[in-house]
Amino acid sequence: MARYTGSVCKLCRREKTKLFLKGAKCFSEKCPIEKRNYPPGQHGTSRRSKISEYGIQLREKQKIKRTYGLLETQFRNLFEKASRQKGITGENLVKLLERRLDNVVYRLGFASSRKAARQLISHRHILVNNHIVDIPSYLLSPGDLIKIKEKSKKLDPIHESLKRVKDSVFSWLVIDKANLTGTFLQVPERADIPLNANEQLVVELYSK
Ligand code: SF4
Repeated sequence: MARYTGSVCKLCRREKTKLFLKGAKCFSEKCPIEKRNYPPGQHGTSRRSKISEYGIQLREKQKIKRTYGLLETQFRNLFEKASRQKGITGENLVKLLERRLDNVVYRLGFASSRKAARQLISHRHILVNNHIVDIPSYLLSPGDLIKIKEKSKKLDPIHESLKRVKDSVFSWLVIDKANLTGTFLQVPERADIPLNANEQLVVELYSK
């Protein structure tokens, strides 16, 4: 399946919520959803018939998948992994998504979006525990140290992106802006993860 190459802002409008896919623009008044919070297309503003249970579950799955920037197969595989773990499958899924290296690089503020984080990683600018990791889906473990490669520390996009981040936004991450390093302290609890979605609906969707 090919990666989506259309307007990412349309994805937000389709889900009727901010998915923060466009970096700095998402935090500015240029964000289209501020003015047009309805689905794209000529029928976007028209009243639609009642959405089915399946439709609600599908939208919730799409919202989570698009937020973290995964393709369907990647998302499904992660779901299968979550369902094999102990505990609540939906929560396991969100925790696995949070452990992805691209997500953590974004949360630490080294990139302005998860897409930009994936680029930093695949271009080999990121080290985990002093080794280059160029796999965006790499799952971090508690105690892992994330660093910007020495030669890459001058990259403007990294410093631009860091401006939007405070020193301690997430309790499970420690960021050292001066040295461009971060530590993944622990897997966060679901309640602490800023994801406005109901992952239980994904479980119901995939259980059909
Ligand atoms: Fe979504 Fe960001 Fe586009 Fe706003 S600017 S619609 S949050 S991707």
